Amino acid sequence: MKRALLVIDYTYDFVADDGKLTCGKPGQAIEGEIVSLIEEFSQNGEPIYVLNDLHYENDASHPESRLFPPHNLYGTPGRELYGRVKTAVTRAEEACPALVFRMDKTRYSAFVRTGLAEKLRAAGVDTVVLVGVCTDICILHTAVGAYNEGFGIVVPERAVASFSPEGHAFALAHFKNTLGAAVV
Ligand code: ZN
Repeated sequence: MKRALLVIDYTYDFVADDGKLTCGKPGQAIEGEIVSLIEEFSQNGEPIYVLNDLHYENDASHPESRLFPPHNLYGTPGRELYGRVKTAVTRAEEACPALVFRMDKTRYSAFVRTGLAEKLRAAGVDTVVLVGVCTDICILHTAVGAYNEGFGIVVPERAVASFSPEGHAFALAHFKNTLGAAVV
């Protein structure tokens, strides 16, 4: 098994108390667990992909514009990684630049319009470990993408969070029962 860590949407806008579309406290509570996983992958020489939502101001053509307030706008501090995760990613990058990949995504799924599946396959990766927010939105859509692309899926449940406890519980069950993921 060759793993890659996918750190999804752990940005200021999605996690901080005053973020534009925040998960709030549940999002902040998983910070330490994500940092530990980044350190573990970095020490093992395993690849880390950091995938952050990207939007542009007044983008009427984007379907999310009708659903959510503006968030993760290009060039704003809201797109920065949150807290100690930001430091941990920078440290991993300094330790081995070839193992850390920062990518933008414009849809919930990290697999849509990013070329991620091809990059993972080219690196020999067969299993993705998903961490970040929100369990029932971008993690869920990314897990479906991973399933459809034929990757094994691992979801550490203390490293994903949602603003919705019901959505979080539904998604964890869905990962396991419908996508065949290991929820650990
Ligand atoms: Zn978005």
